[in-house]
Amino acid sequence: MDKFDCVVVGGGMVGAASALSIAELGLKVAVIEKSAPTPFLQNQPFDLRVSAISLSSQFLLEQLNAWQQIKQWRVCPYRRLSVWELESAYTEFSSAEINEQHLGHIVENRLIQLSLWQQINAHENIALYCPESLFGFEQNDAYVSVQLSSQTIETKLLIAADGANSQVRQLANIGTTGWDYQQAAMLINVETELNQQDITWQHFRESGPVAMLPMLGHHASLVWYHDKEEISRLSNLSNEQLQSAIIEAFPAKLGKINVIDKASFPLTRRHANQYQNQRVVLVGDAAHTINPLAGQGVNLGFKDVKALQELLAKAIGEGKCWHDIDVLAGYEKARRRDNLLMMSAMDMLYSGFSHPSSLIKILRNTGLFMANKLPSLKSKALAYACGI
Ligand SMILES: Cc1cc2nc3c(=O)[nH]c(=O)nc-3n(C[C@H](O)[C@H](O)[C@H](O)COP(=O)(O)OP(=O)(O)OC[C@H]3O[C@@H](n4cnc5c(N)ncnc54)[C@H](O)[C@@H]3O)c2cc1C
Repeated sequence: MDKFDCVVVGGGMVGAASALSIAELGLKVAVIEKSAPTPFLQNQPFDLRVSAISLSSQFLLEQLNAWQQIKQWRVCPYRRLSVWELESAYTEFSSAEINEQHLGHIVENRLIQLSLWQQINAHENIALYCPESLFGFEQNDAYVSVQLSSQTIETKLLIAADGANSQVRQLANIGTTGWDYQQAAMLINVETELNQQDITWQHFRESGPVAMLPMLGHHASLVWYHDKEEISRLSNLSNEQLQSAIIEAFPAKLGKINVIDKASFPLTRRHANQYQNQRVVLVGDAAHTINPLAGQGVNLGFKDVKALQELLAKAIGEGKCWHDIDVLAGYEKARRRDNLLMMSAMDMLYSGFSHPSSLIKILRNTGLFMANKLPSLKSKALAYACGI
């Protein structure tokens, strides 16, 4: 039977980064993943699933030697971020306010995963089991026995990085609290008449926000939040019809656009009641699924990865048993509060901006207006959103 220090279930962005960061400590790691990402080709159309990668996530990807390749493939830096409801309360944040070159990059999720996989494949401490699925596991005081479809392997630590509907979380009997939001989101890739933008913006409308994330060259990713029925109606329009609907609903900042691809996603909030059950630890969306309003989901997942790596490194450095369940308990202490704070901030933003009362509307726009006048508050909020 193959034996490992750590088995990671799920080789998505967060699972792959977890595996590499733990292998960096000299531990023997296995990754279990259902399906491999398709390879990158220069002339491929842009994927619909993209993420706004914060500075702190970029630093982690650099540390894992993955960023260098991602950057060579295709990424789009953004230096400014704006948000408004009424034009009079238009608020713009700039990287200059935190003395940085940029605030982050828009990157296709698959390219992040692919680049991490290149590093995994080259790493002597990591075994990749793909295509492979988890069947179940049993844990005792010393190890976890993990049943895969073709064999059983053994590990001291089992990491659940298997996403929002985590099977590992369910098998570990860890419940969640959360809800489905009334709204859904539609992601739309468009070709733009305008040159590449260095700004990402979000306009709050009564029916929900609309946002633009810049992509390399004459491309952009649009996000349209609306109630589920309307998103379902929009999904059934032809690309030409959707184009006209976008021109009507989005601010007149886009120039001419051409719809290339579209898909819709439900919006859910889930928070695991515990991040650990003995030798099982949850990271990324397996632990927390957040409203994507401010693009923080995978950035929180990467912070989990960093925290777990630091915890294990410290224990190893101090000569402690790094897989002792009391040591592992430190991970939840390090991450729960920060994740909860960001989830609650997103909910306040979401419900604050969707409240129909005209008094609340005046208050939220006054808030934005005031934020514009208080540079120290603005730069603090910005640094927090960038994860620095
Ligand atoms: C509309 C939308 C927009 C978003 N925009 C942003 C953004 O701009 N910025 C941002 O930071 N986040 C964003 N997010 C959130 C982000 O996409 C997620 O937080 C992120 O994908 C979570 O990564 P993960 O690796 O934890 O999970 P996943 O990406 O779900 O990966 C889980 C992996 O586990 C594998 N797996 C699952 N079960 C098993 C099993 N039993 N056995 C083996 N393998 C298994 C899956 O195949 C998958 O590869 C957005 C989300 C949505 C819905």
